[in-house]
Amino acid sequence: MQARFRKEPGFLFLIFTIMNSEEPKKLRLAIQKSGRLNEDSIQLIKECGIHFNGRMDKLKSEAANFPIEILYLRDDDIPGYVSDGVADIGIVGDNVVEEKEKIVERIEYLGFAKCRLSIAVPKAMDSFQPADLNGYNIATSYPKITRRYLENNGIQANIHEISGSVEIAPSIGLAGAICDIVSSGSTLMTNGLKEVFTIYKSEAVLIGGEGLSNEKKLILQDLLFRIRAVNKAKNNKYIMLNAPNSKLDKICSILPGMKSPSILPLADSGWSSVHSVVQEDNFWAIIESLKEQGAQGILVLPIEKMIL
Ligand code: ATP
Ligand code: ZN
Repeated sequence: MQARFRKEPGFLFLIFTIMNSEEPKKLRLAIQKSGRLNEDSIQLIKECGIHFNGRMDKLKSEAANFPIEILYLRDDDIPGYVSDGVADIGIVGDNVVEEKEKIVERIEYLGFAKCRLSIAVPKAMDSFQPADLNGYNIATSYPKITRRYLENNGIQANIHEISGSVEIAPSIGLAGAICDIVSSGSTLMTNGLKEVFTIYKSEAVLIGGEGLSNEKKLILQDLLFRIRAVNKAKNNKYIMLNAPNSKLDKICSILPGMKSPSILPLADSGWSSVHSVVQEDNFWAIIESLKEQGAQGILVLPIEKMIL
């Protein structure tokens, strides 16, 4: 088993302890120590009903009520530690998994930290196409993803790898274009750049290494079951409404629910209360159709967990 060691003494001690301890019964999950993934990763674990001390000054913590240990790492190190077996699983941006090229399995996409890796050029340039990159210098912190894109599209360009503040590269004359993470585009705007096309789409992903013991596989299955229940619930809403009985068939066809909607008679004869589940994606279109069919008193509630 090979591990790349970081320089901090505390971290060295942690890795030494892990490598020399007996095969633990707990699943080791690596999450980002601080940064854009940290809060959502901790929240997801907590929503899975797992209690642990999420203090950032610690290198690891143990859950009180679930056989899991959490390691706090820099996001760039997570794919390596998972493939080396220092951590069993990890939560990291798909862009980092793709860039690091470590042997890990993408187990489940998690739906947060959605962003894209895009090419950006100075604002003043008109209708910039991928082929226009030929002969360009491109500054990026993602040289492998960028190189793969260029090769797949037959573009000859030079890549300048820089580790941060990529967006200033054109203004200091280092590169004519950049390839960087974009979410709203506001950082690009303030640096006089515009996004011209996307080369990679990313979101947080749960990754795992090879060779988990059967015991750990069972813990992972339990964790995954909980993660899926939490994420499914986030994508759905519980809906209650009153409907005239004459319109029930139509309203039920709009609201298929998990199996079929629940229908309860109201004290006011001729009316029923309908309860169901709707997907967040087409929520507003469904509400419009329900109103057109005479639905009234529509209440919408969040769902905490959803198990099908
Ligand atoms: P570390 O100190 O751990 O190395 P970092 O500075 O490299 O952190 P962050 O900026 O915290 O990384 O970003 C972590 C991940 O969050 C990125 O790899 C990407 O997947 C995602 N991400 C980055 N920028 C955004 C954004 N603007 N919106 C949404 N997600 C983003
Ligand atoms: Zn990083």
